[in-house]
Amino acid sequence: MIDRPAVLGGPPAFPDGLPLVRPTLPDSEPLARRLRDVLDSGILTNGPTVRALEERVAQQVGVGHVVATASCTTGLMLVLQACGVTGRLVMPSFTFAATAHAAHWAGGHPAFADIDPATLTLDPGDLARRLEGAEAVIATHVYGTPCDVESLQRLADAAGIPLVFDAAHALGSRRAGRPIGGFGIAEVFSLSPTKVVVAGEGGLIATNDAALAETCRLGRDYGNPGDYDCLFPGLNARMSELHATLALASLDHLEEAVARRGWLAARLRSRLGDIPGLSFPAVSVGDTSTFKDLTILIDGDGFGLTASELAAAMRAEGIDTRRYYQPPVHRQKAYAHLGPPAPLPVTDRVAEQVLSLPLWSHLTAGSLDRTADSVVRIHRQAPGVRAALAGALLAGR
Ligand SMILES: *Cc1c(COP(=O)(O)O)cnc(C)c1O
Repeated sequence: MIDRPAVLGGPPAFPDGLPLVRPTLPDSEPLARRLRDVLDSGILTNGPTVRALEERVAQQVGVGHVVATASCTTGLMLVLQACGVTGRLVMPSFTFAATAHAAHWAGGHPAFADIDPATLTLDPGDLARRLEGAEAVIATHVYGTPCDVESLQRLADAAGIPLVFDAAHALGSRRAGRPIGGFGIAEVFSLSPTKVVVAGEGGLIATNDAALAETCRLGRDYGNPGDYDCLFPGLNARMSELHATLALASLDHLEEAVARRGWLAARLRSRLGDIPGLSFPAVSVGDTSTFKDLTILIDGDGFGLTASELAAAMRAEGIDTRRYYQPPVHRQKAYAHLGPPAPLPVTDRVAEQVLSLPLWSHLTAGSLDRTADSVVRIHRQAPGVRAALAGALLAGR
């Protein structure tokens, strides 16, 4: 009886609810002091704290230049504008919509390519077939899983076009030991509240290309070189000193956060690894993921429930989940005008199967275990759960 899932009348695993994410924030006292110093200085934007953040991240990820921006989306827009790419920009559809939005705002149009079924990152084999007429490749380190950066770079080089990474999830990830940030012509991190390092809102462009960095620096400030004779139509995409202060404090905990998230992800794998129809996106051997998201794949036939049914049953347990990324970008209303793309079978299948479970850097092992136990309990009583969910639907609940 005690083992009944909440959807079948059992007690919910989290009566007070378990959110999907919580930002891990630095100690508020020292942070408040630093924020007060910024306020007292009277310099609220474009000041020494932003520069300190840029220098620190440049050193940490081993790149020549970092340009802090108001968001990752604006950072991507500035990079694409600086690259002068306004035509066909090939990217995965299995990513957050902002990847495509940035391409659109920069004057390009997204052309979607499929993903690798194991890592869920851009598939070099499929990319190779879609490069005709492309002006740039944009790839996303989905959930913090490093892309196959070497193969993507070879293809971009052969086509003579830039490779840009949406690294929103990947500040702290490593490819064969090398920090994400130094690959392609530029990589752009996000510091928004659901990411691992937070600024409230913010982005970071990392690049080894000095000219590109300089253009992005101008671009985030309207394109104004200082004399108000703007060189090109830029944005206001500056990061404020207050946001940079929070980012610097948050950065102090990055290594610890990535290690702990990796440990929690491994713990979940060990607890759910034997369930039929349930699998995990792969991280290549030797790579490190931030596990920005803790995502599982549910094959409805093997598991007994679809990912969407499991999500509904988890909701009854008080557990918040998300379908990252369902719908994939090519199926969103915003891109209907592009018409149907060439088939993306892996993207479509994976999008049906994904479910991201709650994870944050200070999540307790106990909460993770209770989440895993809920998945097991729901799976064991899958036929009853499915019937209960269908009944609730019929009853209009
Ligand atoms: C969050 C996110 C973005 C956008 O980042 P912002 O800082 O919110 O603009 C872009 N791409 C991906 C993959 C993301 O998850």
